[in-house]
Amino acid sequence: SKQRSSALGRIWSSWMSVPLWLQIFVGMVLGILVGVTLGEQASYLKPIGTLFVNTIKMLIVPLVFCSLIVGVTSMEDTAKMGRIGFKSFSFYLCTTAIAISLGLVVGYVIQPGAGVPLLQHEAVNTAKEVPSVMQTLIDIVPTNPVAALASGQILQVIVFAVALGIALVLIGDHGKPAIKVFESLAEAMYKLTDMVMKLAPYGVFGLMAWVAGEYGIDMLWPLIKVIIAVYIGCIIHVLGFYSIVLRLFAKLNPLHFFKGISNAMAVAFTTSSSAGTLPASMKCASEYLGVNKKISSFVLPLGTTINMDGTALYQGVTALFVAQAFGIDLTWVDYLTIILTATLASIGTAGVPGAGLVMLTLVLSTVGLPLEGVALIAGIDRILDMARTVVNVSGDLVATTVIAKSENELDVEHYNADMVQSAVI
Ligand code: ASP
Repeated sequence: SKQRSSALGRIWSSWMSVPLWLQIFVGMVLGILVGVTLGEQASYLKPIGTLFVNTIKMLIVPLVFCSLIVGVTSMEDTAKMGRIGFKSFSFYLCTTAIAISLGLVVGYVIQPGAGVPLLQHEAVNTAKEVPSVMQTLIDIVPTNPVAALASGQILQVIVFAVALGIALVLIGDHGKPAIKVFESLAEAMYKLTDMVMKLAPYGVFGLMAWVAGEYGIDMLWPLIKVIIAVYIGCIIHVLGFYSIVLRLFAKLNPLHFFKGISNAMAVAFTTSSSAGTLPASMKCASEYLGVNKKISSFVLPLGTTINMDGTALYQGVTALFVAQAFGIDLTWVDYLTIILTATLASIGTAGVPGAGLVMLTLVLSTVGLPLEGVALIAGIDRILDMARTVVNVSGDLVATTVIAKSENELDVEHYNADMVQSAVI
């Protein structure tokens, strides 16, 4: 038995050395196999998944609150940068809002979750009363922020966090101690998120087993459709929307742009981290696109922290997938809420692998969609992460180029010369 336990120990330690995204993928595949084999019996495994979903729910409010305050206070420089800061900030928020709208359109057209009458019998389809526009806008401001935190009114939490963050910056040195506290809490919440995500392979296993037990292998096709939808959306956004932006706002030929940033795109795709891609983006901007370093050294790092077009687009598609799969009708107020939340949430999303999945929980909970949906997406999330990170990075580079052009800090001759061809990474 000693031999056996050491064999188990070896298996365990080699399992622990597998990267998390692959562990989650394995959890999904095993879950499907077990679910298909056990059939209805697999519902006994569901509590493992529910436990995981509960631990994610535990994170949402404190994570969003702290990381948004830190996100807003870290933008002190933006104010210092005056005009360029204002331009970057508005550019980033607008493109993000457009990205998520595109995600919603793609999700609506492709209908990845249609035909999965998941859990419809559990009557999640509570016909919601449509609140008036006026009421929705008024309700965004919490009358009692503590009550908003306690009851998980995410939109209200976001509004309060952003307002508090701005106030902390405005009071200068007086704000420093509180900012430090929030920074430290945010750091702890990131750590806690890491810890919770380590449970994801098992949670995903439990939920997938249960879903596959109930619906069989049919469950796979919708997930493949999610992948197709997210990739189509990303391609339209990068090749279509960014080309238009470059032509319209900077009168530049987009072909040179895409040639110039191909290295950064490749790094983004393989690392799934826009923060990790920053050095490559910096190099592309100054060496291949001809952007003055004065501009890129401010606009790019800012974009890495607050600009997440790909992530927003992905949240649009997946939110619709979850709504369709669980048979929940969304009102147009819900759509607006999704756009608003995802845009604001992108300020608090870190440019590291998998961050978008955690923020998806936030978007889903604002419109009352079931968080089990997150576990369904989790199994394929890495594949989606690769695409959305490419979009995130490309968006930062588009902004840098357009803003540099408008400030007369772009060497257009250099831009048109396709330097990348002669350069080695
Ligand atoms: N991985 C993405 C990034 O680094 C963030 C995300 O998970 O959506 O840009």
